[in-house]
Amino acid sequence: MTSVLRLKPREDRRLRRGHLWVFSNEIDVEATPLTALEPGELVEVRDAADRTLGYGYAHPHALLSVRLLSRGRRRPDIPQLLRRRLTQALALRERLYGTPFYRLVHGEGDLLPGLIVDRYGDVLVAQLTTAGMERLRDEVLAALVEVMRPQGILLRHDTPMRALEGLPTLVDVGYGHVPDEVELEEEGVRFRVPLRTGQKTGWFFDQRPNRLRARAYAEGARVLDVFAYLGGWSLGMLQAGAREAVAVDSSGPALATLRANAEFNGMADRVRTVEADAFDALTRWRAAGERFDVVVLDPPAFVKRKKDLAAGLRAYERLVALGLGLLGPGGVLVASSCSGHVDRAMWDTVIRRAARRAHRTVQLLDEGSQGPDHPVHPLIPETRYLKVTFARVVEP
Ligand code: SAH
Repeated sequence: MTSVLRLKPREDRRLRRGHLWVFSNEIDVEATPLTALEPGELVEVRDAADRTLGYGYAHPHALLSVRLLSRGRRRPDIPQLLRRRLTQALALRERLYGTPFYRLVHGEGDLLPGLIVDRYGDVLVAQLTTAGMERLRDEVLAALVEVMRPQGILLRHDTPMRALEGLPTLVDVGYGHVPDEVELEEEGVRFRVPLRTGQKTGWFFDQRPNRLRARAYAEGARVLDVFAYLGGWSLGMLQAGAREAVAVDSSGPALATLRANAEFNGMADRVRTVEADAFDALTRWRAAGERFDVVVLDPPAFVKRKKDLAAGLRAYERLVALGLGLLGPGGVLVASSCSGHVDRAMWDTVIRRAARRAHRTVQLLDEGSQGPDHPVHPLIPETRYLKVTFARVVEP
């Protein structure tokens, strides 16, 4: 027996437009108590007149109470639904990329709320971030094995999102054999990526099109890559003719891998790594009058929760102003924000205010977003999370 959740009058409109989420205040909890459910339980969602809208999984204690897996009256066959969604996701990526390195499943954007899968050739790294997906763990792994035939699947379940759902956080092999390190290729550069200890699932596929676009400014440039991680930006710029790259990160292990990656690509003599807090390093260089031709700022999310919005925006503004302070006329800034709570308009304001603060006149050259292997759900603005600005400093 599948539990039923009935919505209050008119609360079905968003779902009918195509949205996938139901919030707790939209449910008629007198008729269908939410608290009687188990975390992640499969539920049938009905409108106030008892017409079935779809099926999803529920969380009795979260503000976001239901995420839909399917629409319409028919109760979904879960294994079949998973296989079809994965096949659909794979078809897009195979059309887009000649190499098997990409985000294979992007949660709501691929109509699989709570599931992230990145592909590193024969190895998949997955995150089941919600109690609902966790309950479907065996079915998800079976569907991935059937559709992808991987050598191994690693579960990077050490994400804070799981703790919020009341799930254990750990790194675990879900299937087969998973090496500690894999090699991937991005636009002619080869990277070794640590799967168990790297950031997130190991690599940031979302910036790929922006890293490629940045190469237009590489020729002969002295590049500063801030929050460099494994060198995605800096090594790409060197590949495209940059004279020198300085890579800053607070993680010693990440920078050690970056140097190994530089060596691996014959670029070691043109890279310098600096282990430091980004704000400290930029402040120091600015005081010393350092200059770069290109500054890349690709920080972690400064706004992780909505209540951090004001503080996060101030931190972004400070960072971008520091970055602009290291550029003279002709210099190019590539600045990113991956916070889902910061929309494009807020980000544009950050750039504008930072330019004023740094006493720099800029022209906006280009805008970037996440690559198409991170599809956006048209009704869920939170799925469009990455904002990148390309700007040039000009004579005032
Ligand atoms: N630019 C990378 C992704 C950056 S991930 C790419 O394209 O692949 C964020 C990085 O910021 C991590 O490597 C983390 O170690 C680093 N980091 C986090 N806080 C930092 C800080 N205050 N100063 C310097 N680096 C920081």
